[in-house]
Amino acid sequence: MKVRFSAREAAWAEWAPALRAALPEMELAREGDPAAFDAIIYAPGGDIDDFTPYRRVKLVQSLWAGVERIVTNPTLTQPLARMVDPGLARGMAEYCTGWALRAHLGMDGYAQDGRWRTGAVPPLAPERPVTILGMGELGRATAAMLGGIGFPLTGISASGHPVPGVTVHPVAALDAVLAEAQILICLLPDTPATRDLLDARRLSLLPEGAWIINPGRGTLIDDAALLAGLDQGRPAHAVLDVFRTEPLPADHPFWSHPAVTVTPHIAAETRPATAAPVAARNLRRALSGQPVLNLVNRAKGY
Ligand code: NAP
Repeated sequence: MKVRFSAREAAWAEWAPALRAALPEMELAREGDPAAFDAIIYAPGGDIDDFTPYRRVKLVQSLWAGVERIVTNPTLTQPLARMVDPGLARGMAEYCTGWALRAHLGMDGYAQDGRWRTGAVPPLAPERPVTILGMGELGRATAAMLGGIGFPLTGISASGHPVPGVTVHPVAALDAVLAEAQILICLLPDTPATRDLLDARRLSLLPEGAWIINPGRGTLIDDAALLAGLDQGRPAHAVLDVFRTEPLPADHPFWSHPAVTVTPHIAAETRPATAAPVAARNLRRALSGQPVLNLVNRAKGY
């Protein structure tokens, strides 16, 4: 069995040892006759634009959870699986928990300036509602970590399917949910249905003092509306890990806005040590005719 690896140049050195260890029975290569490959391991930045010649390929396994850069490729007719990896989920839960605690504890309210600031005692976690947009793999992992601290959790998903420990609503209830969202964590994929979902009107529904944490995708939020809202203190602060253009251009107003924290798309990495065995298991399933896990729904785009 022959597996084609297609990702940005630097990824090969990082991934090849872990993938070879996880797939000792398969031949892993970065190039070769497309018709000779049985599967593709894919991440953005690679050299495959046309999937048509890969006639034998039974599975394209993405190393990324977000698949917006490949799902719309009209030449891709082979099954596409996204990455669901315990390391990725833990990384995202830790990122969201860290920034949520910064918001919750008011960590920005103190400076080493000689002023003895009293009176700003934060509520305990059980009195601080946290809202998560997106109740998928990463939303659920984040909810589990925040729930362990004691935050009451509300979630939004497309379907509204129940999640233990979270009051989940379908997206139709978004407006009402935003009005109660003191800390809003956004973990939605980039699809036609989620683009600009947080527009000026919806941002204005947030309660005073609300924080937005967005490690999902940058297309979710209307940038100009967010900046205008931040200027008026609603939301009070935005922690942004993902952007419409990445890297975020040096002259983008997010860099200089005092109520914005920019992180450079580092919320959750797919780590070879945990993700290579996941990819290997799925490749073996595909190549032995078993149902593939974490298949992307092409119509929905995630
Ligand atoms: P997932 O398991 O596919 O979950 C997606 C969730 O979004 C589901 O709960 C889904 O609802 C919901 N959803 C989809 N469209 C919606 C809509 N229009 N309105 C409301 N809810 C909607 O994805 P995941 O693994 O949790 O990953 C989420 C996203 O995180 C990825 O797509 C990627 O963009 C981003 N990500 C970022 C980083 C980073 O480092 N910044 C790393 C990894 C991933 P249903 O449950 O009803 O289907």
